[in-house]
Amino acid sequence: MPTTREKERAAAHGRAPSVTGSNDFLAAQQRAVRLTEILEKEHGTPDLGNLPDPLEELVWIALTRQTHRLNAVRSWAALRARYPTLQDVLEAPEGELREVLRPAGFSTQKARWIQASLVRVAEAFGSLTSEPLRAMADDEAERFLSNLPGVNLKSAKCVLLYSLGRQVLPVDTHLRRLAERVGLVERGLSEHRIHQSLEAIVPPTLRYALHVNAIPHGRMFCTALRPHCAACPVAALCDHARRSAGS
Ligand code: SF4
Repeated sequence: MPTTREKERAAAHGRAPSVTGSNDFLAAQQRAVRLTEILEKEHGTPDLGNLPDPLEELVWIALTRQTHRLNAVRSWAALRARYPTLQDVLEAPEGELREVLRPAGFSTQKARWIQASLVRVAEAFGSLTSEPLRAMADDEAERFLSNLPGVNLKSAKCVLLYSLGRQVLPVDTHLRRLAERVGLVERGLSEHRIHQSLEAIVPPTLRYALHVNAIPHGRMFCTALRPHCAACPVAALCDHARRSAGS
């Protein structure tokens, strides 16, 4: 019979507990470890330009949503040139901020998200500081961040991972596609469930490398349309590649 711990792991992994649950869990964990090793060797864990300050990272992530990275970079440069501090961003007239953010697209929405988030931080912490976040446990900080306007679970985990040094695993579109195709998780899990499932099988020390390396891998090999399985270094581990070869 599965133990309580095995049942919890199985539930987190998105499947019903069974007498073989423990073996399934270990196999999934081993596959996740091997996948991370291969990706790390292939892509070398590149620096993606994320920011060490959690509040700046929050603003940066808002700019990167639903746009090409280059547009976000241009908007970030324009923002910092116009507003030297985040307090200046918070106090800027919304219409003016919207114009500055125009290169990032969806500038009305993004200007509102950014200012409302900064106001919420200032109200909660007494000023525009991230110090209280540093003192919070992972789940408490994640809850605070993911309740800010325009900040979803993935974005909250990015701030935790990149700027607060926490061993969490943000699941973006590249990692979701890769994990589904390789067979680490079921397809179509909710945002909450896929984070829970992958964090259950990816050891904390490997989460940064998996998240970062899945991005270039998704762009170079595991593309949304017509993935390049024949050239992919992950193919030997991958359910999708195996199915494609057999069809
Ligand atoms: S083998 Fe194909 S489907 Fe599997 S990870 Fe590589 S590119 Fe993606």
